[in-house]
Amino acid sequence: MNAADEYQMNVGVDYPELRDGVAKICEEFPGQYWRELENDHAYPTAFVDKLTQAGYLAALIPEEYEGSGLPLRAAAVILETIHGSGCNAAACHAQMYTMGTVLRHGSEAQKRKYLPRIARGELRLQAFAVTEPATGSDTTQLRTRALKDGEGYVINGQKVWTSRALFSDLMLLLARTTPAEQVQRRSEGLSVFLIDLREAVGKELEIRPIDAMVNHNAAEVFFNNLRIPGSCLVGEEGKGFKYILDGMNAERTLIAAEAIGDARYFIRRATSYANERVVFGRPIGRNQAIQFPIASAYAQTEAADLMVRKAAALFDAGMPCGTEANLAKLLASEACWNAAEACLQTFGGFGFAREYDIERKWRETRLFRTAPISTNMVLAYIGQNVLGMPRSY
Ligand SMILES: Cc1cc2nc3c(=O)[nH]c(=O)nc-3n(C[C@H](O)[C@H](O)[C@H](O)COP(=O)(O)OP(=O)(O)OC[C@H]3O[C@@H](n4cnc5c(N)ncnc54)[C@H](O)[C@@H]3O)c2cc1C
Repeated sequence: MNAADEYQMNVGVDYPELRDGVAKICEEFPGQYWRELENDHAYPTAFVDKLTQAGYLAALIPEEYEGSGLPLRAAAVILETIHGSGCNAAACHAQMYTMGTVLRHGSEAQKRKYLPRIARGELRLQAFAVTEPATGSDTTQLRTRALKDGEGYVINGQKVWTSRALFSDLMLLLARTTPAEQVQRRSEGLSVFLIDLREAVGKELEIRPIDAMVNHNAAEVFFNNLRIPGSCLVGEEGKGFKYILDGMNAERTLIAAEAIGDARYFIRRATSYANERVVFGRPIGRNQAIQFPIASAYAQTEAADLMVRKAAALFDAGMPCGTEANLAKLLASEACWNAAEACLQTFGGFGFAREYDIERKWRETRLFRTAPISTNMVLAYIGQNVLGMPRSY
């Protein structure tokens, strides 16, 4: 590889063929498509099908299971491009970030049973159930119980904000298998299960959609004596929290890449409108009060992107990346929010008209400061785990 290629790979426009291919698909799904989905609270089936058929959602599935076996950075590029094109990957990104847990800790039988069918688009693994109504960010206190019963488990409890639960065939679930009072550390005694939703929905499993500010297809999930076979357990019983944390580094890095895509979308739209819109006889972009917030968001985005690349590079090298994944998520979510604000302000009143798509993207990008982890919890992680200050909780 020569120096120019190396630059492109590390800090430039890497994976250009992926960017081109994904962008072409996105062109078929303009703003009107997403607006209509919102009106109907619908799932973007056609969009997800296109990405699946083109193999993009199987990017992280190894070739031996019929995927493309690409690194996390490639998946980040795919998601960034989707968001940079004005589309939204929320309907399908979970397939990428739950993959780490299944690949690293799932049994060979689980991988053979599910991964080729996921890669072929016959099954969707889009639901990831961690958050609970009573315990929220305090994940290790979650109350959903999986009780051993013969060869299998019986699950009781409730999850909230489980995105895409109604549109997924499979769900990755974090539940307590050993009561909190019987473990030394609260992160112990939690287990991960890979559950087939298809037969249980409407019986021992009830899923109720949540009407939300963004069309994220989120739902409440109620487990009422759901009986699952022992073969659903991922890895070893009681070690689920560690597995989920591994997966969360991938999730934070990928979500940060989506935020970078959003930021670039807003900067592109804001810049072009600032150049075109003439008020008081000159383009509004000549006013520094319009120009500087966009320029500032651009600088923040470029810096955040470097942290996203660092987090992905460490993850792909199998090295610890908790700090970088958290920093990437924090910086990218701030950059995209500042870009969104600058863009909405630049568009003036027209920013509020749905047909411009700015208000929709503005609402969507705000989510990154709250989910999958809120800014406060990332700052607490940095303060406590990176800088060694006292724990607040
Ligand atoms: C659209 C959407 C989709 C989602 N999808 C999923 C999903 O697919 N799967 C899933 O499991 N979850 C999902 N979530 C849940 C999301 O991860 C949580 O909402 C988020 O982690 C925060 O938890 P909470 O809402 O219970 O807030 P809480 O934990 O109640 O916190 C409320 C506020 O208090 C702050 N806070 C709490 N404790 C502290 C502290 N010690 N120090 C400082 N600040 C503190 C928090 O940072 C937050 O700002 C989704 C949420 C949304 C909105």
